Amino acid sequence: MLTLTDADPVANQMFQRAGRAVANAGSGWFAAWVSLGPVVDVHSHFMPLDLPDLGASTADGRWPSLRTDDGGKGRIVRGAETFRVVTSACWDLEVRLRALDDTGVERQVISPVPVSFVYWAEPNLAVAFARAQNERLAETAGASAGRLIAFGGVPLQDVDAAIAELERVVGALDMAGVEIGTSVEGRELDDAALRPFFSAAESLGVPIFVHPCDGARAIRRQGQPYEFGLGMLTDTALAAAALVFGGVLEDCPNLKVGLAHGCGTFAWAYPRIANGSTLLPGSKPPDATEEMVRRMWVDSLVFDPLHLPLLFERFGADHVMLGSDAPFYPSAWGAPQDVVTGAVKAGLCDEATATGILGANALEFLAANTAANDAVRERER
Ligand SMILES: [Zn+2]
Repeated sequence: MLTLTDADPVANQMFQRAGRAVANAGSGWFAAWVSLGPVVDVHSHFMPLDLPDLGASTADGRWPSLRTDDGGKGRIVRGAETFRVVTSACWDLEVRLRALDDTGVERQVISPVPVSFVYWAEPNLAVAFARAQNERLAETAGASAGRLIAFGGVPLQDVDAAIAELERVVGALDMAGVEIGTSVEGRELDDAALRPFFSAAESLGVPIFVHPCDGARAIRRQGQPYEFGLGMLTDTALAAAALVFGGVLEDCPNLKVGLAHGCGTFAWAYPRIANGSTLLPGSKPPDATEEMVRRMWVDSLVFDPLHLPLLFERFGADHVMLGSDAPFYPSAWGAPQDVVTGAVKAGLCDEATATGILGANALEFLAANTAANDAVRERER
């Protein structure tokens, strides 16, 4: 049973410890607090080992599957192609929990690896894949003593099936939310066909995390550093612009949506997008779009503390949450919290704001799911 309410003893303990750490830490407060505080990471990925191997059964080399090698290494493959070399933290619960301990993270949201969105697939197969993956993710979170919180995937190429899986995710599987891609096989997020899905998530109170899935097509140049450095951020900005300027957040005012990587380039591009939009007939007044922007949530995975104040300005400091991209974030880049503690050290962020980013804001973002879980179960009675 997933619990993130005031009745949750782990959450209560976390809040108490955070308060104590901040009050007592003195000049070295942030170091003590990172090790003691309620650190919640909303952006990580997990790929269960025993997913159906649809690549083998359909002879379609686009299906992802996980192969393990010696030495705690593995590969996500698509057909004969190695898509990504991974470590066992990608699929092994015990290894993941040790990694959490090593990085001072107490709770972490695990979401599907974006390669498993499979929006290109035939709907029945995508449903089977999503159901299997969601069951495994829910089992993993259920075996983690409350430290992992699972977001599921939904087959958005079939909106009715996606809504059915959304309800199963927060109902039978008691998961915390869903992760979706920035587009669905050429459909942007403001495509009218997708609106019933967002309405369902809104009415159920299910938080949605939007993750880039097509960095290569968002820009004209492939390969590194372009796809990783610019493509993924542009892809996410396109999704955010669709939510704000395409009518999704207007139609779904209570939708709880978070976007990866600090919302990509959107925070910086927003003034230009907003001004440009006013040149079009029927445009929304700037106040209305600003209000919608501030309804979105973003993670802190922006690499440079200097970026955080702009996220505070655009989205509100209480809508910025720690994100790590574990297990894909190399330890050589430091700890995911460094961007936040770095901002405190540089005088860009006060202690209360940092406390929120490292944990309390995420609990607020995730808390909606308890109402969603209850609503679905009540209806199923
Ligand atoms: Zn990610």
